[in-house]
Amino acid sequence: MNSTEVLNGLIRRFPNEPEYHQAVSEVLASIEDVYNSHPEFEEYNLIERLCIPDRIVSFRVTWTDDYGRVRTNMGYRVQHNCAIGPYKGGIRFHASVNQSILKFLAFEQTFKNALTTLPMGGAKGGSDFNPKGKSDDEIMRFCQAFILELWRHIGPETDVPAGDIGVGGREIGYMFGMYKKLAREHTGTFTGKGITYGGSLMRPEATGYGNVYFLQQMLATRGLELEGKTVCISGSGNVAQYTAEKLISLGAKVVTMSDSNGYIYDPDGITREKLDYIMHLKNVERGRIREYAEKYGCKYVEGARPWGEKCDIAMPSATQNEINGDEAKTLLANGCIAVSEGANMPSTPEAVDAFLNARILYAPGKAANAGGVSVSGLEMTQNSQKLSWSSEEVDNRLKSIMENIHSQCVKYGTQADGYVNYVKGANVSGFMKVATAMMEQGIL
Ligand code: NDP
Repeated sequence: MNSTEVLNGLIRRFPNEPEYHQAVSEVLASIEDVYNSHPEFEEYNLIERLCIPDRIVSFRVTWTDDYGRVRTNMGYRVQHNCAIGPYKGGIRFHASVNQSILKFLAFEQTFKNALTTLPMGGAKGGSDFNPKGKSDDEIMRFCQAFILELWRHIGPETDVPAGDIGVGGREIGYMFGMYKKLAREHTGTFTGKGITYGGSLMRPEATGYGNVYFLQQMLATRGLELEGKTVCISGSGNVAQYTAEKLISLGAKVVTMSDSNGYIYDPDGITREKLDYIMHLKNVERGRIREYAEKYGCKYVEGARPWGEKCDIAMPSATQNEINGDEAKTLLANGCIAVSEGANMPSTPEAVDAFLNARILYAPGKAANAGGVSVSGLEMTQNSQKLSWSSEEVDNRLKSIMENIHSQCVKYGTQADGYVNYVKGANVSGFMKVATAMMEQGIL
């Protein structure tokens, strides 16, 4: 396999999908050597079969807004690969959602899920529906209309969706309710469910906490600790909030958070009380991060990202391509020693190169943010067993899964000079597992 040829072939067949090309390109470059050392992979054209999704379902979603207007959006589910388990991956509601973004996310999810050691294939879905400014009733009607189409393609042993940008506990509840009515069964077809109807304790915390556990493992390889470190976080949604919560509890100083309008910089650090304010502001009032700066009298920068602020550690937790090459260089120039990605593909290829060339601790999202889907996997297990584990039990399992993912990255990513390339480690480890399963299951 020549990774450039494979990529060019995909670009020709699937033009206008830049995010998908970007995600595939990064993985192909890091697995090329391993792939080529297994001639049987090429014989079975494993690489194209692994890059092209098993299927994509797309549909129109029709719903009525509060003014009685009939509205339409597009809905999608990309079922990428089910070699190691049922399809599994979140649903995103954001105005920017299109097929390219969901294909990149489903592709990444396949490798991430393989890394967790749990039996889950990769998928992703969503809609270009913009939840901002919508009433609760509108959100409910949209979720119901979305599931009216999607329900026939999902199921507890087929495809198990979860949340992502714009989809949290409220949306999962509305979607699960509609699914249950149509399917006439109360099964674990969604994860991220409420605690009263089959959700797992620690699922809301899992992605953020898991990212911090992974970061601790990385720091330990250099004899470093989290306590006293200054951290820039982007985003102020689910992942960002629980990343901040765990960091604060471990003695780190979080100085930034953001939303799609701008970022706040609090040089004194966001305390537990201030984080409670952010959680209420974002989860209940659905307000803007600017209001934090007004309340606590700190800096707010409209229309910008936080990467110009001085920090030891950056944890991008908002969206894809939110750190470009110049911003990466600024972070490095300001002394940043670690980047651990809560979001999926938040660093552009230029930013990734800058981090790797500077030999800092750099964890790609598919390793660092895998805690979310891991606890989703644990939610599926609890649902099958009709059991509910304690927070402590789930947290302990989460920690050990993140340690295991870290070990796999070290095993497959340590270079001859001792530097751990976590990108290569995560990609090779995830790839080998999925590739082996596909080979053993024949040509499909
Ligand atoms: P949320 O919707 O809860 O929060 C997203 C945050 O990012 C919000 O603060 C939002 O701001 C901001 N944001 C979204 N889009 C943009 C944009 N285009 N530019 C700037 N800011 C933006 O989502 P999550 O916290 O769940 O997800 C965040 C990231 O983490 C995503 O990349 C997701 O794929 C990834 N992830 C999530 C997991 C999970 O368990 N939830 C698991 C693994 C990865 P605003 O409020 O203005 O929209």
